[in-house]
Amino acid sequence: MPWKCPICGTENPDDVDTCRICGAARPTASTVSVAERGPKVVAYYRQLVVEILETPVKGLAGAAKAFDLEALGNIVTVGRALDNNFVLPDPSVSRRHLRIVVSSEGLILEDLGSTNGTYLMPEGKRVNVAKAGEEAVVKIGNSVVRLRLVK
Ligand SMILES: [Zn+2]
Repeated sequence: MPWKCPICGTENPDDVDTCRICGAARPTASTVSVAERGPKVVAYYRQLVVEILETPVKGLAGAAKAFDLEALGNIVTVGRALDNNFVLPDPSVSRRHLRIVVSSEGLILEDLGSTNGTYLMPEGKRVNVAKAGEEAVVKIGNSVVRLRLVK
């Protein structure tokens, strides 16, 4: 049976015992029932700070937002749609562009099939799913954002 990761919410196939996105262990039957009652979020870091370094959107360069990972959980979404955690109204950014999963080993970036892609800077390598440590600079559309984890 496919199983849902308790950390990042990803559906994983039955034949794997660790989450393909964040690497968390597959929960046992007893932890699944706890999870269904509403698990307490295990936050590996206190905050994720998202800062816009460059953007064609007027007035938005330099803007930053800190997410409380204990309250929000370990996933922060970025995109143009208003229901993302971090909304970036750059027309070259997809409505649902990027999912950031915070694991025990730091940031995991997951491009959500965006039109213009997600690039890890300074190398500019296009990524689908990538581990990025505790701090990363990513280019999404014509905007560049810095992601930083705070213990
Ligand atoms: Zn996971």
